[in-house]
Amino acid sequence: MSIKIGTEIHVSDISQKMYDLISELYPICRSITGDGVRKTLYYLKQQIPLSIHEVKSGTQVFDWTVPKEWNIKDAYIKNLQGEKIIDFKKLNLHVLNYSIPIHQKIKLEELKQHIITLPDQPEWVPYRTSYYKETWGFCMSHHQMMEMQDPEYEVCIDSSLEDGSLTYGEYFIQGNTEDEVLISCHICHPSLANDNLAGIALTSFLAQYLSQLELRYSYRFVFIPGTIGSITWLSQNQENVNKIKHGLVITCIGDPGKSHYKKSRRGNADIDKAVIYVLQRSSQEYEIQEFSPYGYDERQYCSPGFNLPVGCLMRSPHGTYPEYHTSADNLDLVKPQYLADSFTKLMAVLNIIENNSKYVNQNPKCEPQLGKRGLYGAIGGQTDTKKRELAMLWVLNMSDGENSLLDIAEKSGFEFDLIKETADTLVQFDLLKKTLH
Ligand code: ZN
Repeated sequence: MSIKIGTEIHVSDISQKMYDLISELYPICRSITGDGVRKTLYYLKQQIPLSIHEVKSGTQVFDWTVPKEWNIKDAYIKNLQGEKIIDFKKLNLHVLNYSIPIHQKIKLEELKQHIITLPDQPEWVPYRTSYYKETWGFCMSHHQMMEMQDPEYEVCIDSSLEDGSLTYGEYFIQGNTEDEVLISCHICHPSLANDNLAGIALTSFLAQYLSQLELRYSYRFVFIPGTIGSITWLSQNQENVNKIKHGLVITCIGDPGKSHYKKSRRGNADIDKAVIYVLQRSSQEYEIQEFSPYGYDERQYCSPGFNLPVGCLMRSPHGTYPEYHTSADNLDLVKPQYLADSFTKLMAVLNIIENNSKYVNQNPKCEPQLGKRGLYGAIGGQTDTKKRELAMLWVLNMSDGENSLLDIAEKSGFEFDLIKETADTLVQFDLLKKTLH
């Protein structure tokens, strides 16, 4: 059976829907815990039947502890005239994420110690967090700070940091085997469109699409706060992670930058080969990065105690584009066409993963006589007969139980789908047999 992912779907139809989902979720103030994450997950639950999990503050997860839950209602800075010069309700990036509550009048000099700006990008507001050090702060544009001339200001952060829980979402699609593909995205950033929301939207629409197909693999989608979320998830699911045969972290996937792929720690996992194969044939620029223990949740999935075959698919990598972690990572940076392009590439990767197998030539001593079996010139249209014959020779020659169809596609230069169709034909003619793994 050949599962052809990508058929009967018009990516252009869903690219606007992905963008609309990003727009809907953009105003929510998310963090690694709290109601922003819950609201986001319950919104996604209208589209895919997510199971939403709560893990109590204080729970030990490997070397970490699930933190107190942070929530925020409002925050502002008022000048002496009582005017709000900074308003959380206009832009949630204005508050240092995880700020403890404060409401007092404060001298400008002292307030400036709690203000973060980007002097090099004076119009943009930075996004900053303080998850593990209890403090408070405001982020604003450098221009906004330079305009502050009053000797004293009223500052208010109406937040709470209390025992509660960490929330994550999970969606599982049962395939024909227990072997799993893990797709992971982070959900902990507030109003940032490319970093977090693009990955959430793509993952969500991918899950909807795959749920309608008959699949070889089971698929597990996790929507988790970065770092502490994947550590928590791994801690709670470590009995089952050996089922994960392939995985991807999806992030920063909707901006105009070229596609980037960061390999798994293994470096030669099937998922690494499949993504590289797809990007090489995309006729677009791309970049492959070796694994490094810095980045997104692949750091945890690829920690040595797990070493899962999980890579990271992105467009512009974190920290490399000027809008990264600023108010300029907004709804203008992300575009439907880039989301669509990423979605198409991802489906091509999963099409390979679903159809890739190893086979054994049943007539390995010299070439089988294809003519007497009617295999020469018998398959396909007239124009590509030669190509198909050559593909048969490649598949027969390389199918020694060690090479996968993807290996054969890489070596022969033929498209993966042609190699797969050829293998299917040779199986019908008893010249090829699939191995068990
Ligand atoms: Zn980020």
